[in-house]
Amino acid sequence: MSACGVYDLGCHGVYSITLPLQPKVIPNAICGICQKGKEANKRGKPEVLIHCSQCQNSGHPSCLDMSIELVSQIKMYPWQCMECKTCTVCEQPHHEDMMMFCDKCDRGFHTFCVGMDAIPMGCWVCDLCSKDTSTPQKKGSVKTPKKIK
Ligand SMILES: [Zn+2]
Ligand SMILES: [Zn+2]
Ligand SMILES: [Zn+2]
Ligand SMILES: [Zn+2]
Repeated sequence: MSACGVYDLGCHGVYSITLPLQPKVIPNAICGICQKGKEANKRGKPEVLIHCSQCQNSGHPSCLDMSIELVSQIKMYPWQCMECKTCTVCEQPHHEDMMMFCDKCDRGFHTFCVGMDAIPMGCWVCDLCSKDTSTPQKKGSVKTPKKIK
């Protein structure tokens, strides 16, 4: 009769839910160059905007002069816009005039951080990208078992 035990069977369990890193999505983002949203780029065609991982800057890849390959690369890492760009090696934004950008992934690098004297003329591809030139990425690439030839 005298059940004085305190049993709280209510759902007071606290679950800490850690969300996986999600790609940044800004529904009403506007391109900083043409001032239009994803419905239309400067040519009037719908185009998905890319977003800076550090600030609210967004832009159409076409407005930023980015190729499709470049866009697929920058989606793989926290891309920074020109204003937020830091060196991939030392993570410093200074020495802008000594900073060069990879033609494949758009990451920034100081010439002196990669052991170069000056910014090269024409194309330059960073170490990270030149490493996978031997394994060209295929569309919808599947994990392939190691092949020994
Ligand atoms: Zn635009
Ligand atoms: Zn930014
Ligand atoms: Zn650096
Ligand atoms: Zn690169």
